[in-house]
Amino acid sequence: MDTFTIGAATVTRIEESYEPNFDATMFFPGTWRPEVVEQHREWMLPNHYDPATGKLKLSIHSWLVQVGGRRILIDACVGNDKERPNRPLWHRMKTPWLDRLAKAGATPAQIDAVMCTHLHNDHVGWNTRLDNGRWVPTFPNARYLFDRTDFEHFKTIDPQKQPGNALAYKDSVAPIAEAGKADLISGTHTADEHFTLEPAPGHTPGTRYISMVSRGARAMFCGDILHQAIQVFHPEWNSFACEDAENARKSRRTVLEVCAGSGAVLMPTHFGAPFVCRVDAKGDGFVPRFGA
Ligand SMILES: [Zn+2]
Repeated sequence: MDTFTIGAATVTRIEESYEPNFDATMFFPGTWRPEVVEQHREWMLPNHYDPATGKLKLSIHSWLVQVGGRRILIDACVGNDKERPNRPLWHRMKTPWLDRLAKAGATPAQIDAVMCTHLHNDHVGWNTRLDNGRWVPTFPNARYLFDRTDFEHFKTIDPQKQPGNALAYKDSVAPIAEAGKADLISGTHTADEHFTLEPAPGHTPGTRYISMVSRGARAMFCGDILHQAIQVFHPEWNSFACEDAENARKSRRTVLEVCAGSGAVLMPTHFGAPFVCRVDAKGDGFVPRFGA
């Protein structure tokens, strides 16, 4: 179990999957090149890239934050039983993710809030579970925080262009709103004394980063503003899934500047082990610092 202490908060990684899953050349179109692996071998192998297949090893996990007597879940992975025929690794998954959550100290009924950094299908799945053929909220006592812009965007997304995300809206987002458990947020949103959700559009129109502060210590949950640690060195590298290239780069740089300036621990949703890092400014760029 990967657990981190941030001030008085305990932050635990809840793994869904961690395996070579995306071809690196496909994932970073136009920018990935084999020399990168040689250049970054020391931190990249074996946890972030699989040389045998040429695939990135992107973890898919949620973060459970326990602070001030509350339990907050950040991002909700792919989920079990979801129909994702376009992406075989994610189709009708059966993982013990709920058991892992329980081992980390939370039953579904104990989750107070679910915060989705954005509404792509690998961030909303566990919002719901299958119950007698219906999708029902997995966390019966939680408020679910969705960015309003993303909510409206994915409601009308073209299922031909983004089949997985269109399906995810129907089975993992809409049922939450229908159950009256969604809070659609706009602008800077202060959830409580610990959490602030800031708009950082680009990867999707309503992507946010989530800042947490406890006793002066800080964490930065950046979702997919960064997918892989190579983007700390290359903030200009977008993934194939970034919808607005220019703003995705801008938001990535913002996240890195905030981390370097504040000492916040960067806690993305897909980095390989050790899954988090700090960020140091170097020249006019940045370098990750693992293991601190
Ligand atoms: Zn993602």
